[in-house]
Amino acid sequence: MSMLSINPASGEQIAEFETWDDETLHDVVTQASYGFDDWSILTTQEERGMLFSHMADVLRDDQEILAELIVVEMGKRYEEAMTEIEKCAALCDYYVEHAPAQLADEIVETDASKSFVAYLPIGVVLGVMPWNYPFWQVFRFAIPTIISGNIAVMKHASNVPQCALAIQEVFRKSGFPEGIFTSLMITSGQVEQVIRHPAVQAVSLTGSEAAGRSVASIAGSELKKTVLELGGSDPFIVLDSANMKLAIAGALQGRFVNMGQTCIASKRFIVDVFVVDEFIEQFKAAIENYFVDGDPMDKAVTLAPMARQDLLDELHAQVMESVELGATVVTGGYQLDRPGFYYAPTILTDVTSNMPVYSEELFGPVAVVLKVSEPAHALGVANNSRFGLSGSIWADDLATAETMARGMESGSTFINSTSFSDARLPFGGVKASGYGRELSSFGIREFTNIKTIWIK
Ligand code: NAP
Repeated sequence: MSMLSINPASGEQIAEFETWDDETLHDVVTQASYGFDDWSILTTQEERGMLFSHMADVLRDDQEILAELIVVEMGKRYEEAMTEIEKCAALCDYYVEHAPAQLADEIVETDASKSFVAYLPIGVVLGVMPWNYPFWQVFRFAIPTIISGNIAVMKHASNVPQCALAIQEVFRKSGFPEGIFTSLMITSGQVEQVIRHPAVQAVSLTGSEAAGRSVASIAGSELKKTVLELGGSDPFIVLDSANMKLAIAGALQGRFVNMGQTCIASKRFIVDVFVVDEFIEQFKAAIENYFVDGDPMDKAVTLAPMARQDLLDELHAQVMESVELGATVVTGGYQLDRPGFYYAPTILTDVTSNMPVYSEELFGPVAVVLKVSEPAHALGVANNSRFGLSGSIWADDLATAETMARGMESGSTFINSTSFSDARLPFGGVKASGYGRELSSFGIREFTNIKTIWIK
């Protein structure tokens, strides 16, 4: 089989790669596992950190080339791609500084002469990664996994094979020994073989709920640990005390960054009845004034393509099916009449719980506005979802907002800000959004053996 690299702004194929056969895959994973002892025992935490310091330099030196690759392969705006590369470099800096303390032995007073907890690496860890932040998602998995002494093998989404190879090259250029990080050029069907490989100890998957269920059940049958970062349908609650200007700016950013293809994008806008008309009117005006379509390399362009035509078709089908069931299109609702995979930023109202746009994840530039009567009603609607990734609350009444934040069924809640990931804070979800955490001290310990050592 082949992996196609297609420019979403034009629809044209720019590269093609053959996937590996099963034997090659087995040999590569086996070979990678041979490096574990040297890497985990013979290198110190500080030596591994030094390599990640080099990596931060490589990423910053090559920032423009790497950002351009992201743009041509998955379609986001150049400015967003530049930010993505810088964020990867900053994550290297963060773990270089903090990993030694986060992984240091912890003495526990017991009746032993000495007893402590050690955070030790476990071996080869598989990452299965999505295309939406083709560098950031991979680095978010790989940096803490590798700096703690593990080996990483990574299956990237099949529409970003050039990014997969470029990331492996960043490791090589940064001075890492061969095999510490390997991009596996394989299909999703071959992931099972990797999970079942005896050298592989654990799996981290960032992707859809369906992929998560499949990978977790295979890993479960092998008793191998999983961390799952899955989809979301994040609520964006606007209370009647909200600063409307701030909320509208947040809505524009929260729903449309990365053309809406973000797991923690704001997806369901749950707005108090007293301000809902004002919110819809201003949100519509903001959208219609802000977006200009064109080449995502062009700084003046604010409306970039979606990553793939099939994903655009899926989104449009969710919209159309909901319209047939009675939803109203306030703006958008169509593919732009131009080459590439451009979808008009869309607002839907009159949405009810039997519609796909209510219950399913909307992974693209479509916002759903739901009207509620009071904060308790807002929270009930917010929690009426299979997903529980993140969410935001917009209010001047911070006491009410904070109480609601505790009640929101999500891995994080932001008040008067859109959701974002920050190296210092744990990132992950509850319910069908997955389990386990990335980033911070919680993320770096996920793929360690939290080991008790007791000395009489
Ligand atoms: P996806 O279709 O699930 O793909 C993600 C990765 O999983 C790809 O490498 C894909 O390979 C692989 N894959 C798909 N089905 C698989 C299966 N049955 N067994 C093994 N591997 C499988 O998701 P996507 O379209 O790339 O990404 C969008 C989804 O990711 C959204 O739901 C989004 O919310 C979620 N996401 C979550 C987070 C988070 O942190 N929670 C972050 C970003 C994205 P192929 O490409 O070869 O199919």
